[in-house]
Amino acid sequence: MSQHNTIYDTIIIGGGASGMIAAGRAGELGKRVLLIEKNKTLGSKLKITGGGRCNITNNEPDLRKLLAQYGDAEQFLYSPFSQFGIQDTFNFFENRGLPLVTEARNRTFPKSQKAGDVCAVLIQYLEKNNVEIITDCAVTNVTVDNNTISQIITTKGNFVGKSVIIATGGLSHPETGSTGDGFNWLHKLGHTIHTPTPNIVPIKVADQWIKDLTGTKLTNIKITFFVDGKKKFSKEGDLLCTHFGLSGPLVLNSSKQVSDLLQEGLVTATIDCHPDKNLGELEKHIIEIFDNNKNKSLKNIIGELVPKGSGRVILSLLPTIDPDTKVNSLTKEARKELVRLIKTLPVGITGLMGFDRAVVADGGVDITEVDFKTMRSNKISNLFLTGDVLDIERPSGGFSLQLCWTTGYIAGNSV
Ligand SMILES: Cc1cc2nc3c(=O)[nH]c(=O)nc-3n(C[C@H](O)[C@H](O)[C@H](O)COP(=O)(O)OP(=O)(O)OC[C@H]3O[C@@H](n4cnc5c(N)ncnc54)[C@H](O)[C@@H]3O)c2cc1C
Repeated sequence: MSQHNTIYDTIIIGGGASGMIAAGRAGELGKRVLLIEKNKTLGSKLKITGGGRCNITNNEPDLRKLLAQYGDAEQFLYSPFSQFGIQDTFNFFENRGLPLVTEARNRTFPKSQKAGDVCAVLIQYLEKNNVEIITDCAVTNVTVDNNTISQIITTKGNFVGKSVIIATGGLSHPETGSTGDGFNWLHKLGHTIHTPTPNIVPIKVADQWIKDLTGTKLTNIKITFFVDGKKKFSKEGDLLCTHFGLSGPLVLNSSKQVSDLLQEGLVTATIDCHPDKNLGELEKHIIEIFDNNKNKSLKNIIGELVPKGSGRVILSLLPTIDPDTKVNSLTKEARKELVRLIKTLPVGITGLMGFDRAVVADGGVDITEVDFKTMRSNKISNLFLTGDVLDIERPSGGFSLQLCWTTGYIAGNSV
């Protein structure tokens, strides 16, 4: 394969969120930069983030609280976030014509609500700073001499860079190009790679009633998880029913814990549609509703007792009660059964969805092998690492992309 003659100051492998900001920053500092991307276009994953709206960062003002979201990596991140933090993300995008808005739970999006606009800002940043871009070009290997990367071997010839940033991402949604290629080379270069597992991922369930509610949001509920009948943990919020099970932020952010529970035994869950009331209070509440609607049938009143759109399916879980029964002729036992059901809707958990549905994959390069002041590898002197390549745990809510902006910008500064 041909050898390209140009010697670049830096070569970035991977044109995702972290690779683009890293390449643009290095170019801005006057470096001769080459960005190599195996897809035909840049930012494939970025364009599908946040359901196409791109939850670009999390505007948590308290740095401690923010960094606590990154689990064991918290202590490593004070220095990088002091160099490029949330305000820097706001400045970066807003100064380039992309205003941001913060919604509930500090989740921040472009005001245009378009992930494609975030990608466009980064592409302009690359162009403005004269970054050379080669797409449809897969890196197949890297060679090392004297503890430095000497050549980048690709499907379009070999390239030489004085420094190299590996920004090839993790393993979630492999159709976007994140197929874990970087982990193979990094392992060969002496880095410890923690095996990636899907994280922030929907949950598979056995129950037909959940599948019958595909597309329905169960709002303001509490879900409680059990292993072999023993209560483990609960969370409150909204659930999204899908054709394979449960999704939505509440479930996505429980998936790591559920994955651990699945190792312990049989996992089940219950959904409580009225977490603010105990059984007695709920029964009283239902009696009041029934008293005010004496001549209505149960099927016409159930909508007032359960999340919107779920009444018919939930009633089908009570085969002994005829939905056409007038509420004033329901027996006490039937009413109690209804109350119990609404407090403990049964769910059987069969597993988690795979990498193809995961927002991130846990695992990656051990963070003790990276200098977070510069994002330089401790193993290879001219190598820098960014974004999902790093083994950093985090919930959904903009924390992943913020990590890309922070680590990418710093790597671009340091090369
Ligand atoms: C459906 C979904 C929604 C998400 N929504 C959000 C959200 O709203 N907010 C948030 O904070 N995070 C979100 N994330 C997570 C976020 O997208 C990632 O953390 C982020 O994109 C990682 O960026 P990266 O630069 O590390 O890698 P990636 O974006 O994965 O980019 C890696 C790039 O490297 C390229 N590449 C790989 N191997 C090679 C090779 N051999 N040669 C050349 N190029 C190669 C790939 O083609 C790819 O373009 C979401 C993820 C998914 C899957």
